[in-house]
Amino acid sequence: MTPDNEVRFRGCLDDVAAYKPGRPPARTDGRPTYKLSSNENPYPPLPGVLAAATEAAGQMNRYPDMGAVDLLEALSARFGVPTSDLAVATGSVALLYHLLQASCTDGDEVVYAWRSFEAYPIAVQLTGATSVQVPLTDDARHDFKAMEAALTERTKAVLVCTPNNPTGPVVRRDELLAFLDVVPSNVLVVIDEAYREFVREPEIVDGIDVYRDRPNVVVLRTFSKAYGLAGFRVGYAVAHPPVVAAIRKCALPFGVSHVAQAAAIASLAVEEELLERVEALVTERTRMVGELRAAGWDVPETHANFVWMPLGDDTVAFAEAVQAEGVSVRPFPGDGARVSIGEREANDLFLSVARAWRQ
Ligand SMILES: *Cc1c(COP(=O)(O)O)cnc(C)c1O
Repeated sequence: MTPDNEVRFRGCLDDVAAYKPGRPPARTDGRPTYKLSSNENPYPPLPGVLAAATEAAGQMNRYPDMGAVDLLEALSARFGVPTSDLAVATGSVALLYHLLQASCTDGDEVVYAWRSFEAYPIAVQLTGATSVQVPLTDDARHDFKAMEAALTERTKAVLVCTPNNPTGPVVRRDELLAFLDVVPSNVLVVIDEAYREFVREPEIVDGIDVYRDRPNVVVLRTFSKAYGLAGFRVGYAVAHPPVVAAIRKCALPFGVSHVAQAAAIASLAVEEELLERVEALVTERTRMVGELRAAGWDVPETHANFVWMPLGDDTVAFAEAVQAEGVSVRPFPGDGARVSIGEREANDLFLSVARAWRQ
């Protein structure tokens, strides 16, 4: 109970855990350090993108275009969806917050796989709704049968993370479509495709195909990972107009800065070059997974820019051993560690610790 003379906040805030960002690496006596803890793109901005952002910064005395018209048009042309089906916000996490704020309140339930993205429980709890976390299968995938069983009349939203952060597997087309067929059409289904560009699975479901004839489906994507704009905060949602309208009502006015809008538009214009970098990261990912398995690690399949190390009780000690070499990873104590695919030297440094750990 809050004493009478203290400011009163909503009760649902009491148990909200603060979002833990990936740690920067510790200093190691002058040797280079690497951050493999936040799934960032290790490449610096492409010159054209940097130039567009720099030029846009010259207008910082003006509010940005609140409707983000040019960015919506660029996205519309790129993905073949009408601008009425698109919304942008300060990262796809912001879109998730807006969607949950628009759909959930006290007493409602939100179903999602667990372990999954750390932002989910926080975003759900802030609305007053309850998280219904459905354990992943043994091979770290969504368990759609169990998710179906978890649906109740209180379910307002379902979150599907593909590829799943932090474990890596992707949701296959057949399993998602079968699941969508059993979710009531008045329950919002959020398909979080933050790592879409890194997927190399032929049976992949493309959210943008799926949403077209399903008014309860919304697809979230981001410029933070493959496009390398994490610092600018810009993500987008694809959904039918009523869902888009609900997002827009909840969004902060002028959230996405002019600089971020310009950088996102410029990134779409140089997408081929950016996707070559994604390809190089995928090649590094294949190498990492191969080397880890060869060293005896039982790592799950990954279609994202990270790999999951199932470490159980060794997680914290392992993360500290890696940290001592100047590489930060993302530990989930008692469960495992998520390691982003970074520059080759960083990956090699990480692999050397991982190999030694098994000996
Ligand atoms: C990184 C990530 C996002 C994107 O976050 P932004 O807010 O767009 O930077 C969304 N979902 C998942 C699962 C992620 O890992």
